[in-house]
Amino acid sequence: MKKLSDHFFEEDFRCKCNVCKREDFRLHLGLVGILEMIAEHFKKQVKIFSAYWCDQYYESLKKNHRSYHPMGKAVHIAIDGVDIKELFKYAETIPGINGIGFYPKNNFIHIDTRPEDKKEAWIKEGESYFPLSADKRRQYGL
Ligand SMILES: [Zn+2]
Repeated sequence: MKKLSDHFFEEDFRCKCNVCKREDFRLHLGLVGILEMIAEHFKKQVKIFSAYWCDQYYESLKKNHRSYHPMGKAVHIAIDGVDIKELFKYAETIPGINGIGFYPKNNFIHIDTRPEDKKEAWIKEGESYFPLSADKRRQYGL
């Protein structure tokens, strides 16, 4: 396993589908720096549920919106023993995280390093995605 930084290995970022068998991956190194900041802040290992998505996997998901996973710029993360609300609130303060999603059902958050002019914050409720409005923030304590 190739170590990329203090807390992360190349393996953490490979596509987890059964088609490419983890051979495929792309990774924006800025994302690794951000994940190190998060690990240092909470003094805990950050769990990566999903990072890069290969083309076949991305197509199989039939997403009707643009995703930063196939570009290697997005991850779904959580930390054992840390409420995803706290993780979300901290992640929002980190420069370079321009896409952020709150996924209470999955108990993880999405962060990505898209360009700043495409900044977006959203919530996944059921199978649907909604902009993170002031009302939704109040509702979820964000
Ligand atoms: Zn794959």
